[in-house]
Amino acid sequence: MSDKMWGKEPFWGLGSEWDPQWILTDNQKKLQATLIDLCATDMRENAVESDKKLMYPRKNFQLLAKHGFLGLIVPKELGGMGENHVAAAMAVETIARYGCPSTAMCYTMHLGAVAAALFRYHDSKPIQDIMRRIDKDCLVGTLSYSDPETGSHFWYPISSGAEETKDGWKVRKKASWTTSGGFADWYIIQTTSPNFAGNYSDLSCFLIMGNEVKADPANWDGLGLRGNQSGPIEVDCTIPKDRLVGATGDGAASNDECVDPFFLLCSSACWNGISMALIDIAKKHTTGKTHKDVGMRVADYPTIQDYVGEAIIETNSCRSFDFMMAQAMDSVTNNCDWSIHRDTKALPRAQYLSWMWQVKFAAAKNVAHVTDKMLHACGGTAYKPRPLEIERYLRDGKAGWVMGPTNEVLRQFVGKAALLGFGALDYWNQAINERVLNNEIKKMSAADKQALAKRLMDETKAAAE
Ligand SMILES: Cc1cc2nc3c(=O)[nH]c(=O)nc-3n(C[C@H](O)[C@H](O)[C@H](O)COP(=O)(O)OP(=O)(O)OC[C@H]3O[C@@H](n4cnc5c(N)ncnc54)[C@H](O)[C@@H]3O)c2cc1C
Repeated sequence: MSDKMWGKEPFWGLGSEWDPQWILTDNQKKLQATLIDLCATDMRENAVESDKKLMYPRKNFQLLAKHGFLGLIVPKELGGMGENHVAAAMAVETIARYGCPSTAMCYTMHLGAVAAALFRYHDSKPIQDIMRRIDKDCLVGTLSYSDPETGSHFWYPISSGAEETKDGWKVRKKASWTTSGGFADWYIIQTTSPNFAGNYSDLSCFLIMGNEVKADPANWDGLGLRGNQSGPIEVDCTIPKDRLVGATGDGAASNDECVDPFFLLCSSACWNGISMALIDIAKKHTTGKTHKDVGMRVADYPTIQDYVGEAIIETNSCRSFDFMMAQAMDSVTNNCDWSIHRDTKALPRAQYLSWMWQVKFAAAKNVAHVTDKMLHACGGTAYKPRPLEIERYLRDGKAGWVMGPTNEVLRQFVGKAALLGFGALDYWNQAINERVLNNEIKKMSAADKQALAKRLMDETKAAAE
C-alpha cells in the first residue's frame, strides 16, 4: 500500500519508493506533503477547468500564496521560506504531477522572475517591496524575453529597447510569448541596453508592473498548457530609475546566472512531473481493468509491465539528473543564499549552464516518449479526454520540446561546444565563420570579386564618415 495520501485515501499511483525522497530535507518533505494535499483537494480539479476554458490558474496561485509558496526561494529576512534549488525543482515537479501542469509552468516562470529579481535585490526598494508582499498580496511574477523577430533565440531582443530620460527609463518591449501574459502582477523583461550601439549582447533587465503591460489574453490558444496564457505582450512606458534591475548591461550575466538556470531546472521538473503523472494514471487504470475472456488485468500483460518499467527508469534518470544539478547549484551558492550576489561578479551557477541544457533536453525528450507510451499502455480509453485525462497531459507535455531553448537548439549547442569549443556558439551572431566565407568567395568570378570588393570599400568609407 502507498505511504502517500490522496486526501483521506492512500494515493492511487506510484508510492514514494519510486521517488528520490532521500534528497529532501524534513522541511521539504513537509512542503511536498502540503502541495500534494492542495493538489488532491483543489488544484487537480482546477486544471481540468483551466484546460477546458483556457483559464488562467489564478485560483491555484491563491492557494500557493496562502501557504507561502510564492516566496519559496525568497530570503527569510524578506518574509520568504529561504528554500533552495532542490525545493524549487521538487515544488514544480509536485504541482505538475499531482495537480496542474499549466500552474507548474506559470510557477516555473514565477520562480525564474523571483530569481532574476533576487540576483539584484540588495539595493532595490521596488524589488524588496514585492518580495515582502509576495504571498500576502499573491504577487505573481513572470519572465518576458522571446522576441517576434528572433523566435526561440530569446536572448536576442531585436524589437525592444530602452532610453534614459530625466527621471527614469523609457522602455519598449515586444514579446511574442509570455507565460502569465496579461495576468502577472510583475514582469522581468529584457531589452537592449540604454545607449545601445549595435552590440546585442549588451542587454538590460527592467521590472515592469502589470498595469504597464498591454496584452490580449482573449486571443491566447494552444495545444496544451492551455491555462498558462502565454500570449504576446507589449510594453511602451516610462518607468522610474529604480526599476532597472541591476546595472545597465547586466542582462547577459542575469541570463547565465539566474534566468536560464532556474528556467531549465524548473521547466525540466515540470516535464518530469508530467511523465510521472502519466505513469500514476497508467498504474491506476491498468491494475483496475480486467479482460473477462482471459481473466487478466491489463497490468498482467508483460508488454504493459515493460512499458511502465521503461517509463519509470527513463523518467527517474531525468529526475536524478535534474536533482543532481539542483544539489550542485545549492552547493556553490551556500544553499541558494542570495546575499552572495552583493558581490556583483559572483556567478557560481553559470558554470553549470551546459549541464542545464542537457537536463532540459533529456526531460523534454522523455516526456514526449512517456506520454506516448502511457497512451499505448492504456489503449483507446486513453485517447478520450475522460476519464483518464492522459490526453490532456499528452498535449501539455508537447510544449517541452518546442519551448526555448528548443531541443533542436540545445543538442546543437552541446554538440557544437563539445566539438568546436564554447566560442563557436556565437549567441549574438558576432563571430565570423572564415571557412564558410572563404569557401563562398572561392566560387566567385573575378568580376563578382571586384564588385564585392567595391561594395565593401564603399560601405567602409560610409561607416567612417
Ligand atoms: C507553452 C509555451 C510557453 C512559453 N512561455 C514563454 C515565456 O514565458 N517567456 C518567453 O520569453 N517565451 C516563452 N515561450 C516561447 C518559447 O520560449 C519560444 O520562443 C517559442 O516556442 C519559439 O517558437 P517559434 O515559432 O518562434 O520557433 P522558431 O524559433 O521559429 O523555431 C522553428 C524551428 O526552428 C528550430 N530552430 C530555431 N533556431 C535554431 C537553430 N539555431 N538551430 C537549429 N534549429 C533551430 C526550432 O528548434 C524549431 O524546430 C513559450 C512557448 C510555449 C510553447
